[in-house]
Amino acid sequence: MKERLLKLPLASMVGVLRGLGPARAEALREAGLHTLRDLLFALPFRYVDRGSVLPLGDLHRAEPPVGIVTVLGAIREVRQSTSRVQRMAITEVLLDDGTGTLRLVFFNQPYLGRSLKAGERMLAFGPLSHGRAGLELRSPQFELMGPVAEASWVRRFLPLYRKLGALPGRVRQRLVEEALGCAGEPPEWLPPELAKDLPPLLPALKALHAPADEDDASRLEAHATPAHQRLAAEELFAFALGVELRRAGRMQRKGSVVPTSPELRERLKALLPFHLTGAQRRAFKEIVEDLTSGRVMHRLLQGDVGSGKTLVALLAMAMVSETGGQAALLAPTEVLARQHAANFERLLGGRAGALQCLLGPMKAAEKREALRRIASGEARYVVGTHALFQEAVQFAKLQLVIVDEQHRFGVKQREALKAKGLDPHWLVMSATPIPRSLALALFGDLDQSVLDELPPGRQPIQTRLLHPDDAERAWALVERELAAGRQAYVVSPAIDPADETKVRLRDIQAMEALLRRRFPGVELETVHGRLKADDMAARMARFVAGDARLLLATTVIEVGVDVPGATVMVVDHAERFGLSQLHQLRGRVGRGTAKSAFVMLSGSESERLQVLVETQDGFRIASKDLELRGPGEFFGTRQAGLPQFQAADLIRDAALLRRCREAAAAAVQAGLSEAQADWVRLEAERLRIAEVS
Ligand code: ADP
Ligand code: MG
Repeated sequence: MKERLLKLPLASMVGVLRGLGPARAEALREAGLHTLRDLLFALPFRYVDRGSVLPLGDLHRAEPPVGIVTVLGAIREVRQSTSRVQRMAITEVLLDDGTGTLRLVFFNQPYLGRSLKAGERMLAFGPLSHGRAGLELRSPQFELMGPVAEASWVRRFLPLYRKLGALPGRVRQRLVEEALGCAGEPPEWLPPELAKDLPPLLPALKALHAPADEDDASRLEAHATPAHQRLAAEELFAFALGVELRRAGRMQRKGSVVPTSPELRERLKALLPFHLTGAQRRAFKEIVEDLTSGRVMHRLLQGDVGSGKTLVALLAMAMVSETGGQAALLAPTEVLARQHAANFERLLGGRAGALQCLLGPMKAAEKREALRRIASGEARYVVGTHALFQEAVQFAKLQLVIVDEQHRFGVKQREALKAKGLDPHWLVMSATPIPRSLALALFGDLDQSVLDELPPGRQPIQTRLLHPDDAERAWALVERELAAGRQAYVVSPAIDPADETKVRLRDIQAMEALLRRRFPGVELETVHGRLKADDMAARMARFVAGDARLLLATTVIEVGVDVPGATVMVVDHAERFGLSQLHQLRGRVGRGTAKSAFVMLSGSESERLQVLVETQDGFRIASKDLELRGPGEFFGTRQAGLPQFQAADLIRDAALLRRCREAAAAAVQAGLSEAQADWVRLEAERLRIAEVS
């Protein structure tokens, strides 16, 4: 590739590249690759060592089993047929490299028969096997190499990129090469304490897209090189700087000052049904400091299942509501909103008149009255679902919003309130304990309080893992508890009808039939995500009231449901759940003083599930879960706001993230360098820095 004389900044749009037509530019845009920087930060997924490409003529000497091989040759022939028995499309490709030939076989990909053309060069890797017609490569991964030898062909490693929409991997190779040729080294923007051990950016990018011959492909593929560290540091520092700037902006926002007095403290104390745990006391003190500081509070309250977050939330609301302000609690579901309201009503006793519930499906007259009470300020403790943020809702003096859910509140909700001229204090409660590394990453711009202590008198929940063949032992336990006047949960996995393994899974209907047979005459309710909201609420209410004794549910009951009379839970197909999810489910029992049990039925993954048998520490379970499944799965698709990185990995690079956060905080404190300030100007909009501050 001829180098351009004038170097382009990495922030240039990919449109500057010569080899890019509109369709391909669109494919890049759709994949989120807008600038040269984006393109170059998206790394190859594999590096093929040309030294390891086997001449086809040599293959026939290999003895079985030969394992995975990489081969390269020209396509000589493509044949399409259909298997007789299963009517499956079979595509056969004959590859020729001058030393010999090899048959490649693809199943069920009829389009290959149309798209693969004789004459094209193909790099393929996969397991070599002995078929009926001799040696063959079945379902190999492959890359088409185009007809011409390019400059990169003289190098040892060949980088492979994933196909992006209409953009084949080999075209990306060419674009990347061109981008590397025309991009200029940007001014160093990382603080010296981070940059000192790292190669400069462009050499790092070159080392990753066009590795030197003496490099080690396995280290490259494991992202274990100094060049990867440079890229990870760039991404993590950018992320951390965004977080710090938002935080700094927030520190300047004035928040309403909530007055305190000895008299108020007495009143709050009188609300408490029991002594606070040390952790609750600490968390509440931190909240009080925020509410009286004159700055807007943005705090995350997290703690293990059952650690008593709700009580802390109520105290925080009372701080505000007992001194003339309004506080609102936002629950993720109606079931939970009603439950919180019922709880608060009990705790508030004589002052329950100041409580108001606001839910989506209220009767018109009821809703009108609720809105009136909220607007007049009569309602000081407001509990509801997202209906709270609708336009018609006017608050008299909203000072505090508490969000009870597992993910962070949206910028949108805050904007909705801002549009009404409100800038209240925020407290976010997370339902699942979040490992520290991830909490910093996700909620770095929030202050954090952690409840790391359970209220006294909790008995450990007896936890068992049973093979489905031994399920009768679980049912016998349920029977005993029901006979003793207690209640029980049975949880079935929600099964997607498209799920291929469903033939081997017992769905919720089958489980309902089983339970009705096994427990004749026992009042049973079934709840799942496809019920209408009011139907669901009515069924849940029957269980909460004790009218239904057995609740069969999918994970809709996962978060927060509190029925102290329920002492046993059986989870079917436990292997279908994440560890944190199971721990969260387990937290639904053991909420009263009676001994409780949690039984997992599963015929597989016993090693993973054993973690729950061994520990009841939610933070440890969460760490293990995160380690096994990675952050995306850990939070599920519901998690908005999980930062997306190309090169960095929140788990693997946790130590680097910590250093980046420290460096970013110091940089913001000391004033940004010119290169950093330039970056902020470019990125302010995307990072919402301006809007929040
Ligand atoms: P979570 O943190 O899971 O939301 P909850 O707030 O639902 O936990 O509290 C779990 C249970 O513990 C509730 O039944 C609550 O009444 C009780 N509880 C909370 N704080 C205390 C305390 N300090 N002492 C005794 N019981 C408490
Ligand atoms: Mg809760």
